Amino acid sequence: MSKTLFIGGTWQSAASGAEFDTFDPATGVAHARCADAGRPEVDEAVAAARAALDSPSWAGLTPPERAGILWRIGDLIDEHAEELAQLETLDQGQPIGIARMVSVGRTADHFRYYAGWVTKLYGETAPLSHPNVLQYTKREPVGVCALITPWNFPMLIASWKIAPALACGNTVIVKPAEQTPMTTVRLVQLCQEAGIPDGVVNLLTGGPETGRALVEHPGVDKVSFTGSTETGRAIVRASAGNLKRVSLELGGKAPSIVLPDADLDAAVEGCVQGGLFNSGQVCAAYSRFLVHRSLADEFAERCAKAVGQMRLGPGSAPGTDLGPLVSADHLAHVDALARSGVDEGATLLTGGSRADLPGYFFQPTVFTGVRDDMRIAREEIFGPVLTILTYDDEDEAIARANDTEYGLAAAVWTRDLAAAHRVAGAVHAGTVFINMPNPTDAAAPWGGFGASGWGNEMGSGALGLYTEVKSVWTSLA
Ligand code: NAD
Repeated sequence: MSKTLFIGGTWQSAASGAEFDTFDPATGVAHARCADAGRPEVDEAVAAARAALDSPSWAGLTPPERAGILWRIGDLIDEHAEELAQLETLDQGQPIGIARMVSVGRTADHFRYYAGWVTKLYGETAPLSHPNVLQYTKREPVGVCALITPWNFPMLIASWKIAPALACGNTVIVKPAEQTPMTTVRLVQLCQEAGIPDGVVNLLTGGPETGRALVEHPGVDKVSFTGSTETGRAIVRASAGNLKRVSLELGGKAPSIVLPDADLDAAVEGCVQGGLFNSGQVCAAYSRFLVHRSLADEFAERCAKAVGQMRLGPGSAPGTDLGPLVSADHLAHVDALARSGVDEGATLLTGGSRADLPGYFFQPTVFTGVRDDMRIAREEIFGPVLTILTYDDEDEAIARANDTEYGLAAAVWTRDLAAAHRVAGAVHAGTVFINMPNPTDAAAPWGGFGASGWGNEMGSGALGLYTEVKSVWTSLA
C-alpha cells in the first residue's frame, strides 16, 4: 500500500486502506498511487504537529540552527534538481524547462530566502506616553498550520508556505492537490533528510475531504490556502469555529492593457507569454487583453501568428512550448468555456478545441471581438485561451479592467512613463507588471485584492502571516 502520509516522522498508509491514482497529463495514464488520508490521519497529524510545536528539538533550536535546516532543504533541492523537475513534469504536465527553472529553481530560492529571515525576526519598542514603563514586542509562531495547495505549481506553491511557516517556528501539515501530490511527497522526504524534527512537517495526501477535515479541526491554528475563490470562501466559513488565522491566494482574471504608444513587438510577445505560460494554468495569467482600437487588428493578427507557431506536446519532449492541461476534468472546463466564447459571438482566430493528441491537450486559442459580458471575459479559464477586447480611451480601459471581482495581477504596455504609473496606480490588483510578463520572486510580495485573496505571501509580508505579535509591558518604577 502507498505510504504517502508522513505523520510524526513516520511514512504510512491510510488506516482505511483508501488510495487514489495520480495521472500523467500527457498520456492520461495513472503513474502513481497515494494514500487518501481520512479523519483519523488528520487527527493524528494535528496531534503530532501540536506535540512538536513546543518540543525542545524544534522550539529549542537557536535561530541559526533553524536557519541551517532551511538552507539545507534548499541545497537538497538543488542536489535532486533534475529528478524533481522530471517528476513535476510527469505529475503536472508542465514543459521540462519550466519545471527546471521555475518549479525547482524558485522552490530552492524560497527555502534560502526564508532561511535568511530566521535570524531577523525582530520585535520593536514603542515610545509610550506612560512614564517608567518599558514595552517591547515579540513575534511568536501562530502554531499548527494547515497548508493546502493547488495543482498548477505544486512544489513551488508548497514552498511559498512551508518555508516561511518553518522560518517563524510553526509546525505544519501539508495537503497537496490530489491531482499533483508527487513532488510534495518528495519535498517532504527532503525536509526529513535535512533534519526537520519529527512532527514539525507532516504530509497528508488526499482530496477535498482531507482539506475540509483540516480546516474544520479545532487543533489547527492557521490555514494557508492557495486555490480557487470558491474553495477559499468555503474555507473562510469552515474555519470560523476556532477563528483560525486564514490567508488566501485565490483566482484571478488579469487584464493586460496595451496603450496606443506601446512597443507592439514587446506587447505581443509579453502578452502571449504572460497568457500561455504553463498552458495558461497560472493564477496571474494575462487573460483579458485590453488593446487600444488603433492597434487592435495588428495586435490580434500578430498574437494569432505567435500562438500558431507554438509547439504543443508532452512536457518531457524537447522543444515543447505548451504542455497538456492537468486533468480530464480541467480539459472539459476549458473546452466548455471556449465553446461559450463561440456561442456568445466572439470571433475565433485560432484554436478553440482539444488537440488531436493522447492526454489532456487543448489548442492554444485566440478570440477577438470579445465583450465584457461574455463568460470568457469574466470567468477564470486557467487554460491556453487568450481574449482580445478593444477600448478607445485610458479611463475606459481602467474602468473595464477593474470591472471584475478579482484583483490579483494586471499589466500595462506603454513607452510613456507617466501613463505607465498612472495606470499602475489606478488598476485594482495586488501586483502590476509594466512592460513585462508575470513572474514571482521570493523577495516580492504576492497577494490579491478583492476576491483574489487575503494577505501577502513572499517577501517580508509572509512573516506576518505566520507569527502572532505579543506586546510585553514592564513597570520600571
Ligand atoms: P481548488 O480550490 O479546487 O483546490 C485547491 C486545494 O484545495 C486542493 O488541495 C483541494 O484538494 C483542496 N480543497 C478543495 N476543496 C476544499 C475544501 N472545501 N476545504 C479545504 N480544502 C479543499 O483549486 P485548484 O483547481 O486546485 O487550483 C486552481 C485555482 O488555484 C485557480 O483558481 C487559481 O487561480 C488558483 N491559484 C491561485 C494562486 C495565487 O497565488 N493567487 C496560485 C495558484 C493557483
